[in-house]
Amino acid sequence: MPESKNATANSAAYSSDAGYQYGTPIVPGVCYGRCVLLAGDDALKNAKLVRSEDVSAEKQKLLDAVEAVRVSMQFSAHQVMEVLTEADESMFQMYESLLDDCTLHERIEKFLDDRWTLSSALALASQSFQEEFQSIEDDYLRARLLDVQDILLRVLDAARNADESVRANESLPKDSTTPIVLVARELFPSQFLSLPLKSICGIVCETGGSTSHAAILAKALKIPMMVDVPNVQNRVTVKDKLLVDCRSGWCFLNPNAHLLREYKLAINISRRNRLAPTASQDIALDDSPATLDGTVIKLCGNVTLFSEIPALRAAGIEEIGLYRTEFMFLIRNAMPDEDTQCKVLTRLIEGANGAPVVIRALDVGGDKPLPYFQWDKELNPSLGWRGLRFLLTNNELVQTHIRAILRAAAGRKNVKLLFPMVSDVYDIQCAKKMVREAQGSLAADGMKYGNPPIGMMLEMPSAVLALDRILPEVDFVSIGTNDLVQYLFAVDRGNSRVNQWYQQCHPIVIRLLGKICQTMSKFPDKDLEICGEMGANISVLPALIGAGLRKFSMNPNAVPNIRALIRKVRLDDCVELYEQACEANTASQVKRILDDFMESVK
Ligand code: PEP
Ligand code: MG
Repeated sequence: MPESKNATANSAAYSSDAGYQYGTPIVPGVCYGRCVLLAGDDALKNAKLVRSEDVSAEKQKLLDAVEAVRVSMQFSAHQVMEVLTEADESMFQMYESLLDDCTLHERIEKFLDDRWTLSSALALASQSFQEEFQSIEDDYLRARLLDVQDILLRVLDAARNADESVRANESLPKDSTTPIVLVARELFPSQFLSLPLKSICGIVCETGGSTSHAAILAKALKIPMMVDVPNVQNRVTVKDKLLVDCRSGWCFLNPNAHLLREYKLAINISRRNRLAPTASQDIALDDSPATLDGTVIKLCGNVTLFSEIPALRAAGIEEIGLYRTEFMFLIRNAMPDEDTQCKVLTRLIEGANGAPVVIRALDVGGDKPLPYFQWDKELNPSLGWRGLRFLLTNNELVQTHIRAILRAAAGRKNVKLLFPMVSDVYDIQCAKKMVREAQGSLAADGMKYGNPPIGMMLEMPSAVLALDRILPEVDFVSIGTNDLVQYLFAVDRGNSRVNQWYQQCHPIVIRLLGKICQTMSKFPDKDLEICGEMGANISVLPALIGAGLRKFSMNPNAVPNIRALIRKVRLDDCVELYEQACEANTASQVKRILDDFMESVK
């Protein structure tokens, strides 16, 4: 079995048509399944227009594709609701009615009658709807254009995935035992959440990063994911099967029986791990483990989906250090109203059984645009209309959202409210003003509301520099290293082409974290936690403890190993390690120092 990129010669022997590729694994595991290709959201805009030879054959393709979408949607609705407590039935009803919409069918058929192929007709229909919708004043109706485009994209996907030798309604598996590997150029969280989640056994993308939000979701759902697999969309078809090994970084196209036999055990173990909540071998499931010299480290969980709560409990963790509200928005095709948001958040808070819950206000934009929101193309979306900047410029939306959070927090002392993408003192002052306004309007409506502690994500270099000025304004701080590293090095966290510049273990990052801890020590009544993926990185953990961090919020699956390591280290060794890492010049030097330390505590 190949272990590295250099094992090319060996791997050729394992794949029937020498189809193997190397990629970057970002969620561990091994899987084997049938390929399902996902069109990018620009597939309708950039489609090449082609004339058809046979109008009735193209019409039949349309009927088959629509049927396939219907079957897959009923199937996904069932699965999404089983997996995602954030979801509800109304999310899927819109699709059902649109699929049968006469205007939609007539429009596509008109282009088919004009002798265009199905994919061209779908693109032309999309363009014509876009022109019509643009003149509509009503925001709600204009937003329906996205529903129409979404459904056209799904029909396009289904047509693409419909194997000619297979009836279209069989092109997506009907039961969760037929595993599929999603193959995309780049995966967006909203796309991901509209698929039959239980059937997805793996994800292979041409681009993406380990801290991208699609990767965070894949981790939450424990789906093995590999990125940086060049041109994979053009190399596979729906007739192909992929074996994806996220341990070695290899993926094999149509592996032969010999290779499959070798991988059988690994595939089964990976599947079992996914189904079971993180079973911990820990003797003591303590959420406040101590180092050998008694320094207590608090562990809490990042929750992207409610479905992670059982894993959190299984790992012995009570406190939710980060709940990303955006996924309840991203899985819908329309903005959830105040009552819906309040209901979802109440369910979350009740699920926490009185333990603290940090609810982060909506952090959309960047790689998480709201699919149903008018989002003009931005040249640098991560530097654009994102996080708090989006909230501060959408008063109506933000008031609904904050009111829902405050209502869910009414009468509870365990809820905290966290704001994303704070850049300076003024930002947090504006955020607090929004909270006061929402409290004022709830009081005017005679409704009960909470007054939760307010915190900020520390994820922009400007906020780190202004930290001593911002701290008097907040109750707690949560370090978001995923974005902090992105903005510190001006490197897109989701672009695998520049991955080598996205260096969490860089001495600059370690030094910066040390500086943050020093500033925080002047404000002993303010809580500090780290919730970026770096906090779950086992090899860097001792250096972070050495820097002064005492509270870590992470993906529940990472907890058992992190807890075990904490119990093996001494604080003074961690401090020495941190100082050595700060002295280094490059990330590879830091990695060597960290690896040596890990060897010494094995
Ligand atoms: C971060 O930036 O580190 C973080 C936790 O937030 P997100 O990954 O959701 O941007
Ligand atoms: Mg962030």
